[in-house]
Amino acid sequence: MSALAQLETRLSYCDYSCTSCGQICPSGAITKLSLNDKQKTIIGTARIDKKRCLPWTEDQECIVCEEMCPVPQKAIRLEERIVVHSSYEIITLLQPTVVPDLCIGCGICEYKCPLDGESAIRI
Ligand code: SF4
Ligand code: SF4
Repeated sequence: MSALAQLETRLSYCDYSCTSCGQICPSGAITKLSLNDKQKTIIGTARIDKKRCLPWTEDQECIVCEEMCPVPQKAIRLEERIVVHSSYEIITLLQPTVVPDLCIGCGICEYKCPLDGESAIRI
């Protein structure tokens, strides 16, 4: 029987500054990479669920995923939008959007999203 390794990014994430798994994997199933190569290796792509994300659905401020994204150019962009709050007040919110070409799928955004249960951003 065989099993595939899978990163459960709601439970943990791939540290941007770490290459340990490739260094210690005894079978070579995880490629040994330099830090520079690892930081460019795509293991997934993040996607925002706009039906759950706080600034998209509940008019609440949250920029946790953008702050956590370790990619220097940031694979999550915040766009300022003017929205009508549920109290009918007009407010300005920063709403996150993933830039797929920059995302490497590290998963820290999913891990740190403050929602209970499933994250509003998933890999
Ligand atoms: S951390 Fe979660 S709730 Fe906050 S902006 Fe990102 S996806 Fe939305
Ligand atoms: S998975 Fe999230 S934190 Fe990691 S690179 Fe992609 S957008 Fe940034």
